[in-house]
Amino acid sequence: MKLAIVKTTEALHDEVLVKNRSKTIVFVPTMGALHAGHMSLVERGKRIPNALIVVSIFVNPTQFGPNEDFSRYPRTLDADAEMLEKAGANVLFLPDVETIYPPGYETVVSLPKLSKRWDGEHRPGHFDGVATVVARLFGLVMPEYAIFGEKDFQQLAIIRRMVEDLALSPYIIGAPTMREVDGLAMSSRNRYLNEDERRIAPKLYETLQSLSKKADREAIEVAKHGLLESGFSKIDYLALVDTDTLEPLDKPKNPARLLAAAWLGTTRLIDNIEVI
Ligand code: AMP
Repeated sequence: MKLAIVKTTEALHDEVLVKNRSKTIVFVPTMGALHAGHMSLVERGKRIPNALIVVSIFVNPTQFGPNEDFSRYPRTLDADAEMLEKAGANVLFLPDVETIYPPGYETVVSLPKLSKRWDGEHRPGHFDGVATVVARLFGLVMPEYAIFGEKDFQQLAIIRRMVEDLALSPYIIGAPTMREVDGLAMSSRNRYLNEDERRIAPKLYETLQSLSKKADREAIEVAKHGLLESGFSKIDYLALVDTDTLEPLDKPKNPARLLAAAWLGTTRLIDNIEVI
C-alpha cells in the first residue's frame, strides 16, 4: 500500500474513517527529521494485527521555549516521506499550525507534578506544549494505539499519566531507544553536532552505563565531572529517579531510571537507561 499524505483533518478522516474503516489505527506522532529510531516505532506498530500506521509530522511551536531551536529544527519532508513509505507506514499526517490551533483555540493540558523536574525544569512550558499537542492529535487521529520512544522518558511518563487521567482511548506503547553503533541515542538533533562534538557525544551513554552499576550520590557527582572533562559544556541534570514518579532517589531501587541532559556546544542531548 502506498503512503497516503494528508494535510487537512477532512483528508485524514477520509483515509482513516472511510477508506480504512476496518483497520486498527496505530499512531506515531513525530516532529520529522526522521531516523531509524522513528522507524523502529513504525516497525513496532506493524506488529499489531490489522494495523493502519498513521505517522504525524508537526514541529509544534508551543513546546519550544523562546530561546530554543524551533526555527532551526531540521525539516526534511521529502526524505521523511520516502523513509516512511519504505518502512511500510500507511498515512502521513502533515497538519499546519491552523489545523492544530484553529482561531479561538485555548485549552492547555498541564501535568504540574510530572513536569516539575528534569526537562520540565530546564525547559519551562515544554511539557504543557507536548501534552496539549498530543491530546489534540489524539482527538484528530482517534488511534487505538499510540507509540512513543523511551528515549524521551519523561515525555512517555507524562503521556501515560495524561491518558489515564483524562480517560483517553489509545493504549500507549513505549518502545526502546535506538542507538548508533557507538551507543549515541539517535536523535533529530544529532545532525547539529560538528565532528568533534559527534566524537564526544557517545560519552553520555557510556556514563549512564557505568553509573548503572553504582549510582549513589557520590558516583553521580564524579560522573558529572567526567562529562565536563570529556568536553560537554554544561550538564542540565544527571539523576537517578523512580521509574513511575520520576522523583529523585538517593539509592538505587529496583527498577529505577537514570536520566541525563547535557550540552555539547549549542546542542542539547538527552538520554536515559533502566537500572535494575
Ligand atoms: P521527535 O520527532 O523527536 O519528537 O520524536 C518522535 C517520537 O520518536 C517520540 O516518541 C520519541 O521518543 C521517539 N524517538 C526519538 N528518538 C528515538 C530513538 N533514538 N529511539 C526510539 N524512539 C525515538
